[in-house]
Amino acid sequence: MGREQAHLGEFDLIRRYFSRIGGARSDVVLGVGDDAALLRMPADTELAAAVDTLVAGRHFPPDSDARSIGHRALAVNLSDLAAMGATPAWATLALTLPAADPDWLERFAGGFAQLANAYGVALVGGDTTAGPLTISVQVMGHVARGTALRRGGAQAGDLLAVTGTLGDAGAGLALATGSHTTSDGAVARELRQRFEYPTPRVEFGAAARGIASAAMDLSDGLAGDLPKLAGASGLAAHVDVDRLPLSHALQAFASPQQARDWALGAGDDYELLLAVPPRGYAELASLAAKLDLRLTPVGELRRGTGVSWASHGAKFTPQAHGYDHFR
Ligand code: ADP
Ligand code: MG
Repeated sequence: MGREQAHLGEFDLIRRYFSRIGGARSDVVLGVGDDAALLRMPADTELAAAVDTLVAGRHFPPDSDARSIGHRALAVNLSDLAAMGATPAWATLALTLPAADPDWLERFAGGFAQLANAYGVALVGGDTTAGPLTISVQVMGHVARGTALRRGGAQAGDLLAVTGTLGDAGAGLALATGSHTTSDGAVARELRQRFEYPTPRVEFGAAARGIASAAMDLSDGLAGDLPKLAGASGLAAHVDVDRLPLSHALQAFASPQQARDWALGAGDDYELLLAVPPRGYAELASLAAKLDLRLTPVGELRRGTGVSWASHGAKFTPQAHGYDHFR
């Protein structure tokens, strides 16, 4: 660490690492540097805003690569906008750091910037303070008026579908913390990648507007998240757990029972759960195929309340209940 870097102050730090992320957008009237950012909304849209906080030791192992932390801090928020069918545009970043370590900041900002650039999201402001490592990112975007995908829009008879594969991030976290190991390096890398660098389903979420009747992203595991969508829609949900999409890597890594537990309860997959009327399913599936994204029907919504699970025609009770910070 050089002398200049050892004395990296708050304002140098902001200028050096956080003043140019996401490039220039014509709808950013004023970005980093003033008391507030000024942003221009397109006509006939609604502002979609979401914020998520990552706390070291709670949302990621404290020794995680800072590049992954930067990526995830933005990805989890982009995933929330994807679940609304909204197009992300701007982000703010509240960063609490134990120390201004240039190597750490370089990697953190690099991971954040790579994902921000991929979606054209401009970092327009934030806050930087000293304290235990905590990262809050707010993402803002827009969606054509009245067209956002909500959790509460599903109808009885709608199919339930999920994107991608489930449980990989749970396995990836188990590998990252060392609670599980494998001698298969390729499998380990693929699963860890799914935890450390989740892909928000932004394009698919936007494409699903007008076809899906409801959507949410899977941050807490299907067993924890599905009751929220079913409850918001005032319906019961039924899922066939034998249909849950599991990756080859996960099946190579874990027993069928462990894989299923991670798929239902581990969280951090950031795939989308969608409700879709049966007549719209083929169109949604073809949109997913165009994006090279797996889409799997796993169940349906019915009149009533609660979520029921089945395996091989028999009632199934998930071990996992999804993550709840205060339980
Ligand atoms: P204020 O005290 O008025 O809140 P600050 O002095 O904290 O402003 O921040 C100066 C400018 O830098 C502001 O425009 C703020 O939005 C921006 N900023 C501060 N921290 C960050 C960060 N981590 N990432 C991006 N912008 C930041
Ligand atoms: Mg401030």
